[in-house]
Amino acid sequence: MKSKSLFIVISAPSGCGKTTLVDMLLQEYPEIGYSVSCTTRAPRKGEEDGIDYHFLSEKRFKELLAQSAFLEWAEVHGNYYGTLLAPIEDMLNEGSSVLLDIDVAGAAKIREYIHSLLKGDPLREGFMDVFILPPDMEELRRRLEGRGTDSPETIEKRLANAEKEIARAGEYLYRVTNDDLGIAYRRLVDLIEVAAGRQ
Ligand code: 5GP
Repeated sequence: MKSKSLFIVISAPSGCGKTTLVDMLLQEYPEIGYSVSCTTRAPRKGEEDGIDYHFLSEKRFKELLAQSAFLEWAEVHGNYYGTLLAPIEDMLNEGSSVLLDIDVAGAAKIREYIHSLLKGDPLREGFMDVFILPPDMEELRRRLEGRGTDSPETIEKRLANAEKEIARAGEYLYRVTNDDLGIAYRRLVDLIEVAAGRQ
């Protein structure tokens, strides 16, 4: 039986190991494509156009917006960010799966869009969303402090934001607690395998 193409949406507060889990998944499953967002902000050092983001001018972003090209979009700190619909549809129609890494607000907009689609639409049929949880807030604080990349104020902001996001974990179809990385990864893979009909 051919497995189903999935539209996988993953969210997690920072420090929950989402990037590591997503990287592991994309390595093991080359048939899962990663949805690259668009942004109007300038590239940071080391960031590549088409890999980290599609870096667009504000004029181009607004043109695309007027064409309803975005599945969802948001303005963050004065810059625009958005997820293009066409590349996701193309990947699903080609039989690939697509993974989208997005925050809780973006995921909620996507869910709303998915529910507006007719039954049978590949985006709706393949949709699954997963929230990655930290074992608890103390451990999340330890991890954020341990990274050594953020100031104490930034850590406090990230923790406050994490609490708000975690409060909305129930909106997702699935939740994976990242206590042990290997176990969390297996759980994520199991969920995907079941959704794809491979198990
Ligand atoms: P950064 O500029 O640090 O890469 O991202 C800033 C913020 O934009 C983050 O909170 C990130 O989640 C959000 N963001 C990145 N891509 C998208 C997107 O495609 N849609 C939405 N709604 N937010 C995004």
